[in-house]
Amino acid sequence: MRAALKPLLLSVSLPLSLLAVACSGSADKPAAEEAMVSPILTSEDAKDPASFAQPEVARVTHVALDLALDFAAKTVSGTAKLDILAKPDADTIVLDSNGLKISKITDESGAQLPFTIGDKVEGKGEPVTVTIGKARAITIAYSAAPDAEALQWLAPQQTAGGKQPYLLSQGQATLNRSWIPTQDSPGIRQSWEARITAPKPLTVVMSALRVGEPEDLGDNRRAFRFRMDKPVAPYLIAIAAGDLAYRELGPRTGVWTEPSMLDAAAAELSDTEKMVEAAEKLYGPYRWGRYEMIVLPPSFPYGGMENPTMTFLTPTFIAGDRSLTGLVAHELAHSWSGNLVTNANWSDSWLNEGITSYFENRIVEELYGTRRAQQEAALSYAEMEKALAEAGKDAPITALHLPPAEGVPDGGSSGIIYDKGATFMRTVESIVGRQKFDAWLRNWFDKHAFQPATSAMLLADMRANLVKGDEALEKKLMLEDWIYKPGLPSNVVQPPASAFADVDKAAEAYRASGTPDAKAWGAWTTAERLRFLSKVPAKLDAAKLAALDSSLGLSQSGNKEILFAWLELALNNRYDPAVPVAEKFLSSVGRTKFVKPLYAALMKQGSWGQPIAKRVYAKTRSGYHAVTQGAVDAVVGKPG
Ligand SMILES: [Zn+2]
Repeated sequence: MRAALKPLLLSVSLPLSLLAVACSGSADKPAAEEAMVSPILTSEDAKDPASFAQPEVARVTHVALDLALDFAAKTVSGTAKLDILAKPDADTIVLDSNGLKISKITDESGAQLPFTIGDKVEGKGEPVTVTIGKARAITIAYSAAPDAEALQWLAPQQTAGGKQPYLLSQGQATLNRSWIPTQDSPGIRQSWEARITAPKPLTVVMSALRVGEPEDLGDNRRAFRFRMDKPVAPYLIAIAAGDLAYRELGPRTGVWTEPSMLDAAAAELSDTEKMVEAAEKLYGPYRWGRYEMIVLPPSFPYGGMENPTMTFLTPTFIAGDRSLTGLVAHELAHSWSGNLVTNANWSDSWLNEGITSYFENRIVEELYGTRRAQQEAALSYAEMEKALAEAGKDAPITALHLPPAEGVPDGGSSGIIYDKGATFMRTVESIVGRQKFDAWLRNWFDKHAFQPATSAMLLADMRANLVKGDEALEKKLMLEDWIYKPGLPSNVVQPPASAFADVDKAAEAYRASGTPDAKAWGAWTTAERLRFLSKVPAKLDAAKLAALDSSLGLSQSGNKEILFAWLELALNNRYDPAVPVAEKFLSSVGRTKFVKPLYAALMKQGSWGQPIAKRVYAKTRSGYHAVTQGAVDAVVGKPG
């Protein structure tokens, strides 16, 4: 049976004063609709300078896309119908765009509405100001540019199957305005639906529940329908299309990927249903219905992206032994921290990433035990220390709430936003006790579900529900220092020294003898191996590197984290035999976390490394997503 689209409940979110105006005359609003009200935050710290929108005047509440995918022209085109909530006297609405070609905008009667496109602002795109008059629903006919930053069009040879093209999107932080004309700000939540047509035999998936079966259009194309009835931050609207197969993993979990990758992906993800259960036990119900994942071609720029109901994953987490599934725990945890309660703007990214990194570790502990969780927490702690050392502990950028210059999309460093954020949560947990901490965090998610949040709100909530006027506890927690001040507060809780005691001893023995213990290595977990590689001397000669590689099999490792750690070490030491391996890696993987540091390592090596970096990048750049291109351009420079 093919289900028809039902009209959607408008999710209303305006400042309460404006809401009262907007809803005058409907005092008998049903209780269910009231429950959907989530206020737009109008405080200074909640404003989003990365968007042109003026939500206090008029805001988008629902987006309905009707788009066709054109793989030859590398464009999406069609219409976006926007439902609008506005002040009664509002005459215009301002939308975000980045390179969209808009042909016309009409009201519900089909009458054309005037609009202007403002000047482009670097990194922000251009404002579209529509004169709406009394219209509260508008339809925009448009197409996205072939180089739309959110979209990556892959040629068949860039896929595992090699026969069909592929499309994937990445919206966070401000990229979706390059293919969807809406208000692209995390504080302006919108429900949405979509009808997408694509050539056969491609399958389309999106970050929403599917509606019915694909419809055969008869001209070698099919139409796919999706619906997200929860209001989400618009960066969470995502699409992928390709030669895709699906396998169920549990009652509400499953995985999509290319047919040739399905067995490996399903095996690596076999713990997913248990992960959802563990997450729910910790912090309350999973509110998105299904939890599916898509394992993408290797050019996906991130490890994972927490698109609701459809986590996007790099294939580089497939190690064959589920040792890198912390990534899945991370993306799943975002279903609470990030998707349910979202940073209102990019100064507070740590509310998404720091809390998620903490939550991820708790899921890992539930599934794989305390030892693995402590080891992964210790690796994260080391990343934080590295970030603090690199920036200097007094640098404003090391505060969790980022200073204005860094409070931009993709600002800050992951060692702070992710790892210091998680360390803060762990410190609070240790001071107040796990039981109290868990009750507080669950309550935070429940109370702010489907709403934007700021650091100030979290601080106030901690004071109201954890500190409760206990002055001694307030002093002990050092909450303001953690959130607003640079460096590391003195109450920081360190990971237990025992987490890596054996590995650290082995690293010390290696430093003394120059011979690695291959037998011990064989028995170690991935976290232990990564720890060992981080502890070998930074300067090693060619003979030592050759011995290390041959006894531990590093350049043959199928574990991409291990291979990356080895290549970074080798390139930092100008080790020629590693260059072909690095070149192959950089040609086949587009994950920014791996690609950028390897180019940076080469660039640091002057006349030895720079020509290699430039030669390889000239070849590989076109295969990378815009996110990775931007990151590497900043290191290597744009090939001329
Ligand atoms: Zn994340």
